[in-house]
Amino acid sequence: MSISFDLTIEQESVRKEAYEFAREQIAPLIAEIDEKDDSALVLSIHKKMAQPPYSYTGIWIPKEYDGTPRSLLENCIITEELAAGGLAGIGVVIIEVLGVGVALPILIGGRQEQKRKYLPLIARGEAFGSFGLTEPGIGSDAGALTTRAVLRNNVYVLNGRKRYESFAHIADFNVIFAKTSPEKGAKGISAFIIPKETPGFRVVERVPCIGLRGHQDEEVELKDCRIPKENLIGEEGKGLKYALSTHDKTRTSVTGGFIGLARAALEEAVKFARARKAFSQPISEFQAVSFPLTEVAIAIEAARLLTYRAAWLSDRGERHTVETAAAKVFASDLLIKATNVAIDVHGGFGGTKRFPVERMLRDARIWVFAQGAPNIMKLIVMRDLFKRLEPPQSLLNQVAARG
Ligand SMILES: Cc1cc2nc3c(=O)[nH]c(=O)nc-3n(C[C@H](O)[C@H](O)[C@H](O)COP(=O)(O)OP(=O)(O)OC[C@H]3O[C@@H](n4cnc5c(N)ncnc54)[C@H](O)[C@@H]3O)c2cc1C
Repeated sequence: MSISFDLTIEQESVRKEAYEFAREQIAPLIAEIDEKDDSALVLSIHKKMAQPPYSYTGIWIPKEYDGTPRSLLENCIITEELAAGGLAGIGVVIIEVLGVGVALPILIGGRQEQKRKYLPLIARGEAFGSFGLTEPGIGSDAGALTTRAVLRNNVYVLNGRKRYESFAHIADFNVIFAKTSPEKGAKGISAFIIPKETPGFRVVERVPCIGLRGHQDEEVELKDCRIPKENLIGEEGKGLKYALSTHDKTRTSVTGGFIGLARAALEEAVKFARARKAFSQPISEFQAVSFPLTEVAIAIEAARLLTYRAAWLSDRGERHTVETAAAKVFASDLLIKATNVAIDVHGGFGGTKRFPVERMLRDARIWVFAQGAPNIMKLIVMRDLFKRLEPPQSLLNQVAARG
């Protein structure tokens, strides 16, 4: 079978459209969003994203629920361009959190009535949700979450606390993960839909972040929060499965965003290096300046290949957890390096508000932890590596003999 590295005409037009959207609708607002940590401006972008021809709020949702579904590969193309053209990560966060975080668990596990009720609203941008998995005491080890849901007389009563529930203060509803059977550990986690203003659900704290400003680390309290039995997504005990299947998809597309932001940092740095003179020549003439930029350019190509392969596997209906984790961890390193190099190249200017690279570095510093820290991505790849490569008996004998 042949391999093609070209985008199709359709994919190329998706790419161009996303880049132009980001240039026109995100880049002009980004300094103000960052300065004011303004979620109203973020919502204004979300509204525009929902409109045709973009319809980005529906890219994960099937047509029968008013969605505009795209392949995961197209999704990655879009996220790369939103970050590259928008000079920031927030455009991707809008899609990932407001559209996807809640749409996918409902799509993957939800009952028909839940899909019919929520998915068209999300797809049309008329409502959006937030995703509550992380807690004050747990992040990477999601299976250890402690929020409880107890069924009494056809009503679930939830108690616990969530942390880092992005956009919870403006969400129309929340997908909350809680334990229905704590004795079963990770297999006792279930997912629930909690509409806003449900008594007992309260955003107790909004913590501004170093980067991706416009979204926030929000702490949520569930205190005797009562919801009807029908608000359980799918089946009891399958909540973590829905969350992890969601992450398999969104980790791939968020990686596209990392590549886009790395590209934006590289482009800013190359332009600056060619314009700025020191010792009577452009600083790009110094290899100490141009080699790190070249390394970033190479890593961008490599990250894109890893990401496209993971997306391609997904689009063929194959498992891609390991490939996605490899792409995400590689692109995380790339993003941190690209934004650091961009600051170095800008010298003292790099740390000032005169240039966008300081914001890119702040976005990078926090973004790499979203949907799974880089170390956790390495764990996924490492486990697969060590599972696949059994030492042969002859080597075991040889090593034992030497020991
Ligand atoms: C921009 C952004 C948006 C987010 N939005 C949401 C959201 O909407 N909803 C939500 O539920 N959560 C959200 N999160 C939370 C995110 O999922 C967590 O930050 C992430 O899972 C990591 O958890 P933690 O921050 O608690 O880190 P911890 O799990 O406490 O880890 C701290 C450090 O220890 C390392 N570590 C932990 N375990 C291991 C191990 N076994 N081996 C090696 N190293 C390890 C980690 O790599 C990390 O460096 C968001 C995070 C960010 C940054």
